[in-house]
Amino acid sequence: MPLSEIATPDFKDTPYWWEAAPPDLEGDAPPPEEVDVAVIGSGYTGMSAALELAREGVRVLVMDADRFGEGASTRSGGMVSGGVNVGKGGDSEQRYGKDRVEAMIEEAGESYAHFEQLIAREGIDCHYARTGRFVGAHTPSAHRVQARKVAALNDRAEAGAAIVSRSGQKAHVNTDYYHGGMTIDRSGGVHPALYHKGLRQACLRAGVVLSGNCRVHKVDGSAGDMTLHTSRGVVRAREVVLGTNGYTGREMPWHQRRVIPIASYIIATEPLGEDRVRELFPDLRMIADTKRVLYYFRPSPDGTRVIFGGRASFRSRTAVETAPVLYKYMLGIFPQLAGVKISHGWTGNVAFTFDRVPHMGTVDGVHYALGCNGSGVVMMSHLGHQTARKILGKANRPSAFEGLPFPTNPLYRGTPWFLPTVGAWYQIRDRIDRMMAPA
Ligand SMILES: Cc1cc2nc3c(=O)[nH]c(=O)nc-3n(C[C@H](O)[C@H](O)[C@H](O)COP(=O)(O)OP(=O)(O)OC[C@H]3O[C@@H](n4cnc5c(N)ncnc54)[C@H](O)[C@@H]3O)c2cc1C
Repeated sequence: MPLSEIATPDFKDTPYWWEAAPPDLEGDAPPPEEVDVAVIGSGYTGMSAALELAREGVRVLVMDADRFGEGASTRSGGMVSGGVNVGKGGDSEQRYGKDRVEAMIEEAGESYAHFEQLIAREGIDCHYARTGRFVGAHTPSAHRVQARKVAALNDRAEAGAAIVSRSGQKAHVNTDYYHGGMTIDRSGGVHPALYHKGLRQACLRAGVVLSGNCRVHKVDGSAGDMTLHTSRGVVRAREVVLGTNGYTGREMPWHQRRVIPIASYIIATEPLGEDRVRELFPDLRMIADTKRVLYYFRPSPDGTRVIFGGRASFRSRTAVETAPVLYKYMLGIFPQLAGVKISHGWTGNVAFTFDRVPHMGTVDGVHYALGCNGSGVVMMSHLGHQTARKILGKANRPSAFEGLPFPTNPLYRGTPWFLPTVGAWYQIRDRIDRMMAPA
């Protein structure tokens, strides 16, 4: 189906979120020659670290190679939770042991409280609502796995999780696509770009210096005396924080070899009206599913549109090329939407890690928080904050995401050449799972 048949005449290949809060250079200033802490990357990780440091009187500079928030932080689905996806799809329990994984889930649960407190404390108006989430099971066996997970999620992350039968799922999402699912009450939705804007404004109020269009080309020195060579001059800093996630480039080769940038794609429909959207999402929950190559979708914060995301391609494709693929996926879930037009389609990079776990740590004097694995609104805000607490010497205890071996692959240099093959294999396995499942 060509885009011209499914797009509104004013279709945009930029995020729907940018209508309310586009990335820009507001507050931009030249980088000072010397600061206490230099932060690379102006997404949630960088802003959250900077905010915590500046509130304690530290002189902080945040630099971004682009406009502020140009990375994933203004492009996401805005679906927020604490701990539901930690280690999802990986072998973290075999690698790190049950206790460590439980500690991660517990900390991820705590990170949700931090997220809610941060929004309240800074008065960030970002349409945050604790709507809850429904995670659809793509097969009966995936539903059984969910049933086993519920207790751990409730015990460790106080997720408010409950199993939903296939006959009960229409109370949450009006589709026959899933074989039941799981609700998670301690989760919700946010307008990701307004959340980012609010964080940025809080940083400015706290005295953080923001330098946009400022690419860091090289970092050298040692802890306590670091030098950053940037496109806007040389900066000296006692400490450096790296928050470049799915946009980590060859300037930071050690880190780049440990994160796999995978494009995720989203479309937004034209306004459908609140009644029609409520027919699809009766209790206005965020929706995700158990597939290896998952769909995630939600009502827009004003309740009038459907925002639908997924991995529409594992090759380098534009949002215009992939929008028809996502549209087809959306009709697979909601055939009721046939004929509806889409007004926006966009893409952004998610940072996966080889062990599917987010990491924070320090190497060569650079503190890093990387690897959201698709769930980073809350987690990367948290790890930025934790990194700041560590620098301040105020962390109550080391983070459960800190100090783990950060794996790479000898054949990986930062370009995920294997994605088309691995992605296609995952999609085939998802399809086989569904074909084998009883109707
Ligand atoms: C399409 C999509 C959907 C998503 N949906 C969800 C969701 O529903 N829920 C959820 O929890 N998470 C979601 N995520 C993940 C979430 O958006 C990210 O985890 C989070 O925004 C990462 O924040 P960050 O600050 O670490 O990185 P980013 O926001 O990506 O920021 C990194 C910044 O680093 C800058 N940079 C890179 N190299 C340099 C350099 N050398 N010098 C200076 N600056 C540099 C980049 O320009 C960029 O602005 C989604 C992501 C995408 C792409």
